[in-house]
Amino acid sequence: MKHAITLENIQYSYARAPVLQDITFSVTPGDFFIVIGPNGSGKSTLMKLIAGISQPDKGMVKILERPVHSYRRKNLARQIAFVPQSVPIDFPFTVKEVVLMGRSPYQGMLGLENKEDMEKTQQAITFTGLAHLADRKMNQLSGGECQRVFIARAICQEPSVLLLDEPTAALDLSHQIRIMDLMEKLKSEKQITIVMVSHDVNLAAMYGNRLLLLDKGRVAKIGPPQEVLTYQNLERSYGCTLLVDKNPLGDVPRVTLVPGKFVPK
Ligand code: ADP
Ligand code: MG
Repeated sequence: MKHAITLENIQYSYARAPVLQDITFSVTPGDFFIVIGPNGSGKSTLMKLIAGISQPDKGMVKILERPVHSYRRKNLARQIAFVPQSVPIDFPFTVKEVVLMGRSPYQGMLGLENKEDMEKTQQAITFTGLAHLADRKMNQLSGGECQRVFIARAICQEPSVLLLDEPTAALDLSHQIRIMDLMEKLKSEKQITIVMVSHDVNLAAMYGNRLLLLDKGRVAKIGPPQEVLTYQNLERSYGCTLLVDKNPLGDVPRVTLVPGKFVPK
């Protein structure tokens, strides 16, 4: 089977400090692949390399077995949509206009939208619970609403791989679960490969079929949630005390932070 994404011996530095080293792994089509790891471990950098926004110093990133840099921009945009961690909020467009931008890889030179583009835009807006805000300007939205607009734009792009960098970070509980359920649905109904960065290890355990724990720019562990989310792996990487037991909802680990006052002396 073709791999959706392959990274071979990736090395990347900002200025001179190496940020990613010896990164080799692949993502299978239809995976719900979740990247976890401490702040500064290189997660966002990794996503930018996969999206083709940054170039590695060494190694190769392939999308559907083809080097990411060999794609024309529009063709790459039909394969990959990227929702970055921070998105510009001072954006002089309405919600509907931003979501419609997701259709640009399918439009001709003039960028004219057709009926299908408008329908897909409307669907993505409804899916992400933004219908009541469709004509609102982006600078009049909350952080979480903005985040949902960029998720809607990515969905509208109908990629085969959806990359999301901490998409639920600014979302309230119901929108977190709604976005995660939506990703699960895109995966199971449309066979879209989901690659997501998340700090929520419990959501990662419940939704991800493969997890990558990144630590100081290296792959600390990769595999199913049961293998990655052990207290040994997590305590080693995060340096804090954790309780890992079984989630009452299913056969996945559950991670609980242990406050100082509960840590045995
Ligand atoms: P994460 O997303 O896991 O928190 P990042 O990939 O954003 O981590 O950053 C990894 C490391 O690279 C951090 O040490 C960060 O300070 C550094 N870094 C990120 N962006 C830049 C940049 N533009 N210039 C220099 N260093 C950067
Ligand atoms: Mg980040």
